Amino acid sequence: MLSPRTMSNEATQVEGLPAIIELPGGESVTVPLPAGQVPAYAVLPALRALVNAMMQRVKDASAERGEAITCRAGCGACCRQYVPVSDIEARALAQLLERMPEDRQARVRARFAEAEARLREAGIWDRLARGGRMLPSEHRPMVEGYFHLGIPCPFLEDEACSIHPDRPLICREYLVVSPSIHCAKLERKQIRRLAAPQTSTALHVMDGAHDPENYNVFPLVAVLEWLRRHPQEPELQTAETWIKVFGAAMQVRFGDSVEMVSRPLPEASEEW
Ligand code: SF4
Repeated sequence: MLSPRTMSNEATQVEGLPAIIELPGGESVTVPLPAGQVPAYAVLPALRALVNAMMQRVKDASAERGEAITCRAGCGACCRQYVPVSDIEARALAQLLERMPEDRQARVRARFAEAEARLREAGIWDRLARGGRMLPSEHRPMVEGYFHLGIPCPFLEDEACSIHPDRPLICREYLVVSPSIHCAKLERKQIRRLAAPQTSTALHVMDGAHDPENYNVFPLVAVLEWLRRHPQEPELQTAETWIKVFGAAMQVRFGDSVEMVSRPLPEASEEW
């Protein structure tokens, strides 16, 4: 039996044992899974590794077609859009914020407060912070109104993501091949994105597993307010169960599956 140890998944340090997860198409990734009963956000480092592998496949296929991704550091065009997250990512982001050095934390918290003030002024803060799914007739004008306020994500610094390894799944799925000017102006018809698995929606569905049609999403700028309004402790399950729930959400919503194959890796892989 391997002993638990700290593994690094991009920048996030995770206590856990390595496990193999099989991706649709036969590929597999090795990820750290925490032991015992854990909240869903504890498996986010594993899900991020999984999603990175999925997105890499999409990017490789695009490169083979000669289609270059235009997203790069220094372009924060999409970071002024409504970035939907759910309770799982809200908790992870709040913890990340708490772990930041005091001065940096103060700067980021000030940006959250500024975003809240702007949205209050625009009269849409309470609706956004309440979460819940919106009908398309409400969602479209809300998202466009939000974008036209030009509120940067609190984690955007020098037009680059300051939490790149820990960014939400939806930020990983935004793979654009059209000129960035179209993203900056939200010219939907001109924005060409690669078709990527909607892992962020699967995560939202996983969050609302008891009622997958009524899961809660809200903008990233409202995560601190969301947690103030929902102080209850999150549900606990084993990491394997959470991964299975995520795989089931992918399958039900998109016909894709993420299957938990084995845990842990054999002793021979101790050096991983
Ligand atoms: S988390 Fe990072 S990538 Fe996502 S919107 Fe914020 S700054 Fe942009």
